[in-house]
Amino acid sequence: MSKTDMNIFEKYESEVRSYCRGFPTVFSKAKGYKMWDEDGKEYIDFFSGAGALNYGHNDDHMQDKLVEYIKSDGPTHTLDMATTEKANFLTKFNDVILKPRDLDYKIMFPGPTGTNTVESALKLARKVTGRTDVISFTNGFHGMTIGSLSVTGNAMKRKGAGIPLNNTVTMPYDNFVDESMDTLEYLERFLEDNGSGVDLPAAMILETVQGEGGINAARMEWLKKVDEICKKWDILLIIDDVQAGVGRTGTFFSFEPAGIKPDIVCLSKSLSGYGLPFAITLFRPDLDIWAPGEHNGTFRGFNHAFITASAALDYWKDEQFEKGIKQKSAKVKDFLVGLTEKYPELQGTFCGRGLMVGIECAKEGLADEVAAEAFNRGLIMETSGPKSEVFKLFPPLNIDDEGLQKGFDIIEESVKALVS
Ligand code: PMP
Repeated sequence: MSKTDMNIFEKYESEVRSYCRGFPTVFSKAKGYKMWDEDGKEYIDFFSGAGALNYGHNDDHMQDKLVEYIKSDGPTHTLDMATTEKANFLTKFNDVILKPRDLDYKIMFPGPTGTNTVESALKLARKVTGRTDVISFTNGFHGMTIGSLSVTGNAMKRKGAGIPLNNTVTMPYDNFVDESMDTLEYLERFLEDNGSGVDLPAAMILETVQGEGGINAARMEWLKKVDEICKKWDILLIIDDVQAGVGRTGTFFSFEPAGIKPDIVCLSKSLSGYGLPFAITLFRPDLDIWAPGEHNGTFRGFNHAFITASAALDYWKDEQFEKGIKQKSAKVKDFLVGLTEKYPELQGTFCGRGLMVGIECAKEGLADEVAAEAFNRGLIMETSGPKSEVFKLFPPLNIDDEGLQKGFDIIEESVKALVS
């Protein structure tokens, strides 16, 4: 029995909470790829804060920098003021991330979380083009505020609040339908249909790998073609890299292997590196037509996040880091594909890219059962998809072989216990 009574959460916290149910214990410590509950039970973390902890918990390098800064009485919260740490972050992000990838973007601080960057992207696209509609894709997820929710392809999440797909048209994502339908041909036909009074949209917004909608990875050719279509019709392409970015799929930006340069990019989650709320919106310099103060908010300019985000970029200075993610991705894929072959009862299909992967289980409820069983055996893992049909592996990018293997063992034991 934990020191803290679990009933406290039932009693005082809104019914809207979710992870409290999925992971029914009280956590009190976390380091690297491990978490511990109040009873001292150890868990391997393949959840990584829903993608916000790509470097694991309490990374030493970031922690040292943060503690040193806090002790120095450096300013914490400075809104839009210029600070040393903001200058350091802007310079480092350009030098370590943008320039080597031949990307030229203005950086905007839209507010603390993923939904804030999406809102700012949608607003900017409407302002730049003077148009209002946005094309989003089936099973896409972009956030919980009204604008981002209206481009989110999840009726259950919109329904309660009565939020329609406002000024949004949902198009089929890659592989949403089988080969009988070319989803991009369908999209182009829609754009051509001026006769029915279809207005050209301001933007298209998409994830290159859908994180909440079932770990669906778009093919590179599909992404390239979407980019071409956007250019042809003068539509802005917004890549929401809130979950798939910051190395999760193997490269810093998830769109790099497609060789495209989106007009607008949304980043948050693992950007601060340490799990602190932080987001940026990147856009082509010529799109920077914001008037001063036109989009602002209180919680921007969080210097602690600048500190840890700058420290996190040190990982990216070392080429071995990116190579390491690719090697681990190959191991995870081998394990998961092997698991589907060894346990046909899973009726499982490997899905995803990089370290953003999972197994889609045809049998309803099975993915949730695997995650619950794994939790009892000491592994934290989430499920994804409209019917929770995918169990999702999100290990920290810097996990070692031992950590990976421990996680694999627990998953295999859990599957074995459930299907045999
Ligand atoms: N976009 C994507 C792709 C996401 O996965 C999420 C969060 N799961 C968001 C936006 C919203 O981010 P936040 O929850 O920080 O507002």
